[in-house]
Amino acid sequence: MSGLKWMPAQPSQPSFLRKFLRKPWFAMLGTLLIATALQACAPQLTPQEPCNFVMSAEQQRVSWKIDVPVTLYLDSSVPSHFQEPIQAAIRDWNQSLGREVLRLGGWSNRTSPGQDGANVIYFMNNWELDRSNEQARTTVFWAGSKIFEADLRINGRDFDYFTGSTPVAGKVDLQSLVLHELGHVLGLAHSDSGGSVMAKSLPNAYLRRTPTSSDISNMKCEY
Ligand SMILES: [Zn+2]
Repeated sequence: MSGLKWMPAQPSQPSFLRKFLRKPWFAMLGTLLIATALQACAPQLTPQEPCNFVMSAEQQRVSWKIDVPVTLYLDSSVPSHFQEPIQAAIRDWNQSLGREVLRLGGWSNRTSPGQDGANVIYFMNNWELDRSNEQARTTVFWAGSKIFEADLRINGRDFDYFTGSTPVAGKVDLQSLVLHELGHVLGLAHSDSGGSVMAKSLPNAYLRRTPTSSDISNMKCEY
């Protein structure tokens, strides 16, 4: 199982309000008010076909629009032998789409995931105890229907991973997992349709390294 978390943009606020806005209920209210104001000024948008994308309240596909390739950085917590399978997963999407939508930007040294203007892959040794069945989680930050940041966490506490081409009993294929999470980074939701790399669960010792034709045609609605 893997998780996906969608984070609406937090509007910047005057400094005297910040202390109060840290309270979650107030931050949420502020966001809702801003969204309503934008909606009132925005032209009426024609609803789009979902193509298995997460949809905005205005029925628009949530994506990076023309702002690709998306550059992802590797946090120093990521084991160095994971770099090649992560690069391979990026290549899988780029080759399937016939264009560069994702790119690896090198190593980064961030303290923790969060909205900080960089798209970073983390390997976490701490993970919520009540989410121990989650192999990874992608957090997407967006405003309107435009994604502006995504972070990817791999659960290093509850799962073991293999990186070669031979499945290993009791371990998860890192490349298949990252391919799925990169689908979320680009905006895709989960899919149950036959063999999709966006299926919600990834069994141990299982290779799922190639997007299906429907994964690709969905992705091509945006990219
Ligand atoms: Zn997922």
